[in-house]
Amino acid sequence: MYNNLKKQHPGLALKERIWVAARASYRDIFAGLMESLKEFDEGAYSWLVNHTYPKEWIRSHFRTSVKCDILLNNLCESFNSTILDARQKPILDMLETIKFYLMVRMEKKREWIKKYTGEICPKILKKLEKNKLAANDCIPSHSKDGKFEVRCMYGDRYTVHLISRCCSCRKWGLNGIPCAHAIAAICDIGEEPEKFVHDCYSKEAYMRAYEPMISPMNAEQMWKNSDMPPELSPENIKLPGRP
Ligand SMILES: [Zn+2]
Repeated sequence: MYNNLKKQHPGLALKERIWVAARASYRDIFAGLMESLKEFDEGAYSWLVNHTYPKEWIRSHFRTSVKCDILLNNLCESFNSTILDARQKPILDMLETIKFYLMVRMEKKREWIKKYTGEICPKILKKLEKNKLAANDCIPSHSKDGKFEVRCMYGDRYTVHLISRCCSCRKWGLNGIPCAHAIAAICDIGEEPEKFVHDCYSKEAYMRAYEPMISPMNAEQMWKNSDMPPELSPENIKLPGRP
């Protein structure tokens, strides 16, 4: 999206502003950031309004049910770079190379998680620790039934509801990891923040994800002959634009 925008609206300062807006976790703060972006570069603002869908690039518009706040497609990029060699091969060799890679990788993951003694996956614990540090700057006040008002440094104030596991900053809902405000409230009732991390980050969930097995395969000379006609390659169609 930014690569398209920068053709007409280049500049590092604008890029930074767009990143800040994309990371905004709730709508009111996003609206304010967009207003200041409009003052900074009205053309870029209009381009964003007319050419993009907020639910595709701004955290404040992401659904909280999916527990994913990722803004980049690095996941696909790294898979793509892994299969780069395989992609140069004819189709059967390509599929076999990818299949072999996944078979070995999934078993490695299964072996690793079996030995892991924690209940929550390590990268998530790291994020939680970071939020715990930030929670030191938050002062929680219990209203009733697990509802808190949390005041932070610099005058920020949020509402946390422990029973429905949400904070008005929306970060807890977006990624399932208690935000600093939520952690302040959780510690106030003498509970452990780890207990409030979403189940999708548990050791059990990880094991379930890697449970399916990819079977080993014999070499091609041991494959059964088929009486079907051989598969033909698709017709080569020249598409418009860059080949
Ligand atoms: Zn929060």
